[in-house]
Amino acid sequence: MARLVMKFGGTSVGSVERIKNVAQKVKREVDAGHEVAVVVSAMSGETNRLVDLVSDVASLHDAREYDVVVSSGEQVTVGLLSLALQDLGISARSWLGWQVPVKTNAVHGAARIERIDCAEIIKRFDDKQVAVCAGFQGIGSDNRITTLGRGGSDTSAVALAAALEADRCDIYTDVDGIYTADPRIATKAAKLDKITYEEMLELASLGAKVLQTRSVEMAMKHRVKLQVLSSFEDLPGTLVVDEEDIVEHQVVSGVTYTRDEAKVTLQQVADRPGVAANVFGALADANVNVDMIVQNVSEDGKATDLTFTVGRKEVTQALAVLEKLKGKVDCKAVVPDPNVVKVSIVGMGMRSHAGVAKTMFAALAEKGINIQVISTSEIKVSVLLAEEYTELAVRTLHTAFGLDAA
Ligand code: ADP
Ligand code: ASP
Ligand code: MG
Repeated sequence: MARLVMKFGGTSVGSVERIKNVAQKVKREVDAGHEVAVVVSAMSGETNRLVDLVSDVASLHDAREYDVVVSSGEQVTVGLLSLALQDLGISARSWLGWQVPVKTNAVHGAARIERIDCAEIIKRFDDKQVAVCAGFQGIGSDNRITTLGRGGSDTSAVALAAALEADRCDIYTDVDGIYTADPRIATKAAKLDKITYEEMLELASLGAKVLQTRSVEMAMKHRVKLQVLSSFEDLPGTLVVDEEDIVEHQVVSGVTYTRDEAKVTLQQVADRPGVAANVFGALADANVNVDMIVQNVSEDGKATDLTFTVGRKEVTQALAVLEKLKGKVDCKAVVPDPNVVKVSIVGMGMRSHAGVAKTMFAALAEKGINIQVISTSEIKVSVLLAEEYTELAVRTLHTAFGLDAA
């Protein structure tokens, strides 16, 4: 007998028929004698619809009310799945975040889970009851409903698995595992049997939405056995494992991309000490996260261009911050460009292999793709490109690093 957490994403519960399919999958585990807690997302498209409703009513909104609205999609699916399970003769009940309770901080819209008290759920395992828990939501330290950020049900599932000391956390989704690149744009992407927590963490934070970044962080910290697999086919999925569990490391394990960033260039800014400190200090004070940065060498020693990236949704705020710096930091113009994509390669093998960046740059150059900004860390290299090259760049790098499926 094992204790399992099974998480089903939006597409997996996207219709009544699919909810019934999920119930069958849960029943199979219950019939095998396992204790099961299920975490579900809202039906696909529902959370987007709710987010739009909020913006239609108020563009500058109270984040606490936003959470009340956008968390409601999961209330529907936990109820429906519990009913579908009961219909199959399985004892089941729904749990909203506050009922469990899943306690979070009060950062509405992007709350972090602080503690889950699952004593009652465990008690009911003895009566063979399945716990059907709403993903994405919790109860804040201000005693109000919170949400965990988009894609947050993955984090709900991993956190619950850690709290329940579950034997495994299975993330059922619309692809049958973690691939070397998003299979939707890289047709030659190959499914991985295993991937390390570290690599998955990089891939997720660099755009691979198959798992929310925070969920991988949490699984790594609490040693939760994590598997990603298909809701629709009975196929083995991908296991997220420790580094020691992978015998041979590929130099590059995956290619990923994100369109969530925008580029901002300060043209002809004075080339003297203190400019970068002023610009990035002011942005940090305004809670605008800066990711990539490049400063060109000035030809005349007087002025240079300073380029950086911020979240696409934060461009307006960044521009307002820079406007206020006028007088302190003068430049010819501030030019925002949202039409960029960050493409990254990730792999543990990079730590011991030289020349990876060179291969990346050469492959892109051969296709005539211009690199605007570069950033690297121990196990990744990211480049900023014009958005129109997204697919071409991902596919080119996938081939260049020998990742194409046979
Ligand atoms: P869910 O609703 O089940 O949470 P998501 O849409 O959040 O599903 O995540 C699954 C999607 O992640 C896939 O449909 C796929 O397009 C995308 N994806 C991005 N990168 C990868 C990758 N490397 N491997 C697998 N899927 C990926
Ligand atoms: N329903 C939420 C979202 O769409 C949470 C999730 O699906 O993980 O972001
Ligand atoms: Mg998701």
